Amino acid sequence: MAQEKEESQLKEIVAVCKRRGFVFPGSEIYGGLSNSFDYGPYGAELLQNLRKLWWEYFVQRREDVVGLDTSILLHPKVWEASGHVSNFSDPLMDCKSCKVRIRVDHFLEEKKGSAFIQGLTLKEMQKIIEEENYPCPNCGARGSFTEARNFNLMFRTQQGANEGGTIDLYLRPETAQGIFINFKNVYSTCRRKIPFGIAQIGKSFRNEIMARQFVFRTREFEQMEMEYFCEPGTQKEWFKHWVEYCMLFLTDVLGLKKENLRIREHTKEELSFYSEATSDIEYHFPFGWGELWGIASRTDYDLKQHEKFSGEDLKYVEQSNNKKYIPYVVEPALGLNRLFLAVISDAYGVEQLPDGETRTVLRFSTKTAPVKMGIFPLMKKEELVPKAREVFSILQTHWTCEYDDSGAIGKRYRRQDEIGTPFCITIDYQTLSDNTVTVRERDSMQQERVLIGNLKSYFIEKF
Ligand code: ATP
Repeated sequence: MAQEKEESQLKEIVAVCKRRGFVFPGSEIYGGLSNSFDYGPYGAELLQNLRKLWWEYFVQRREDVVGLDTSILLHPKVWEASGHVSNFSDPLMDCKSCKVRIRVDHFLEEKKGSAFIQGLTLKEMQKIIEEENYPCPNCGARGSFTEARNFNLMFRTQQGANEGGTIDLYLRPETAQGIFINFKNVYSTCRRKIPFGIAQIGKSFRNEIMARQFVFRTREFEQMEMEYFCEPGTQKEWFKHWVEYCMLFLTDVLGLKKENLRIREHTKEELSFYSEATSDIEYHFPFGWGELWGIASRTDYDLKQHEKFSGEDLKYVEQSNNKKYIPYVVEPALGLNRLFLAVISDAYGVEQLPDGETRTVLRFSTKTAPVKMGIFPLMKKEELVPKAREVFSILQTHWTCEYDDSGAIGKRYRRQDEIGTPFCITIDYQTLSDNTVTVRERDSMQQERVLIGNLKSYFIEKF
């Protein structure tokens, strides 16, 4: 029952996202491309706000972090060095009957629980699935699964037009490696001293076997990652610091509800081969708890590997005592699209109003809201429109505003509630005599009159 309710909430969120121009199905006029999404005008604004807030909090407000913007296509050796060519794969099997692809670990986890599957090899998982004679989740056929195998998640492509002169490349599956291969460039040109971090925002690509749950897991997505380079021996402290810092970003900067967030430490069996410790910040999505942010203590693995494969000396030299070492790294890695889904899920609500009507409302914080103010003339009348336009042009130079003069005022309020606009300003006949407007607050729906001349300072205080 609870699961049904959760699933129907996800459907409602997907419907609001489509209806109100946050997210559209990808390539829709051609019948759609599975698991691809396009962000509409309000979605694009929300993504921009999240990027901006993350960049401010992780780069601009920190003396010890700098930004970077590296290529999606990197030298193919990068992925050999990082271990992605040999290790970046998921266990897969097909149903011979309906040809659906199934991720073996997720399939068994759904049947037996996450504790059960920890540490199991591919062969062991396959044996259990055969013994239990589970049916295919898509067509119900039994005994129809192929042998389980590892499937590399990197997308391949080719560079170059000349026949024979092309090289095989991968679309990056994470932004982190672009940072590692530029470590020396950054620390030598920007005169950085350890400890310091390098952050970047950009697209990543993974050929996920079971891409699902709206924008939670897609094949093309955006990451906001930071590699924090520190002296060996200090990584535990920094790891703790960054887990707390990330949590504060979610609760204090974005205003996500604390009860929807939790920290989950990885067990030894779960840890990636390069990781000494990993904690996930999980969010309670409409379909249950899921990883939002992975914070990993990556040791000196990546820099060491790049030193080995490139032949470049990637050691850091401490100026004061000439001490030379490969730094350890702590990495907070966040998916922008998952954050987008968490922020919308957190904000989503349906309310019964005193007049018996219901309203859908997205309670975004003033920082994340795609549109900050809606500005309306009470009616589309000659006397009111120019005044409303005047107010719009005053406020639009400072905040993202929307002007709307069509339809009943109540409908215009509902529309702004559904896109999460925190304030609506209405210009009526009283405005013409005393220069005051009505400011309506989204959550309380309380209204107050404010002098046009005071609007700027009024909103500076509110924001
Ligand atoms: P998962 O276990 O869910 O596949 P992961 O542990 O492989 O995720 P990381 O490699 O740690 O993910 O990537 C860091 C972050 O990037 C994740 O916490 C998530 O927010 C985001 N992310 C990873 N894969 C995807 C995807 N396919 N679609 C959207 N976001 C993703």
